[in-house]
Amino acid sequence: MMGWVVPPPKKPQKTKEELLEERIEKVRWLVREGLLRSERIKKAMLKVPREEFIPEMYRDYAYLEVPLPLPGSDATVSCPHSYPLFYEALELEQDEKLLEVGAGSGYGAALAREIVGEDGRVVTIEIDKETSEFAQKNLERLRYDDILVVLGDGSLGYDREAPYDKICVTAACPKIPEPLITQLRPYGRLAAPVGYRYSQDLILLEKDRNGLKTKSVDKVLYVLLRGRYGWQM
Ligand code: SAH
Repeated sequence: MMGWVVPPPKKPQKTKEELLEERIEKVRWLVREGLLRSERIKKAMLKVPREEFIPEMYRDYAYLEVPLPLPGSDATVSCPHSYPLFYEALELEQDEKLLEVGAGSGYGAALAREIVGEDGRVVTIEIDKETSEFAQKNLERLRYDDILVVLGDGSLGYDREAPYDKICVTAACPKIPEPLITQLRPYGRLAAPVGYRYSQDLILLEKDRNGLKTKSVDKVLYVLLRGRYGWQM
């Protein structure tokens, strides 16, 4: 992928302890950078072993700030800092219901489940069959049994579980898909990269009493959203 240098695949050599050390260091760095502020998100990032969501040949790179390739076509696990970037902007909290568009590795969904807790709910939708099976397998292995992984076009949302308190789109859209706005509850928040290949803004949308409010939070670089309200490829 242009814009990122993906390190070469290699057999994993790091021990569990080394990877845990890297995870702790990563969280410290995110806090220092001001990207990670809330206690629940911090706890979730310390708890979820990111390396378990990464294909074996890239596992040693789990804590580098690069997106890494996943099984399926055009799927990547996003770089570590992008998760607090999204979840802090969304103000994702305990007991909430989140819809994630683009399950990828399942890592984002696992983090979200730690944040919302057992009385919350996480639904994640993935368009690529191979990728969705990868996410499902990872989540099952780590016992995230109550996360719902749906195979389908997430640009249409997932009406059956709507409304959602928060919606997180992890692929770049031409504009925020209408069905997602409909499925967001009043006063809910949605975060989505909007733009094309090399120029995207992370847009935060809020549904309040006066209608829809949007603002740009940062520049980001995501794979393109496919499907009905995605980019036609
Ligand atoms: N959140 C993921 C990273 C996702 S990368 C993680 O934590 O690992 C973006 C993903 O969006 C890719 O897996 C891609 O297949 C998926 N995607 C693209 N268009 C989609 C659509 N319309 N509906 C659902 N998933 C989509």
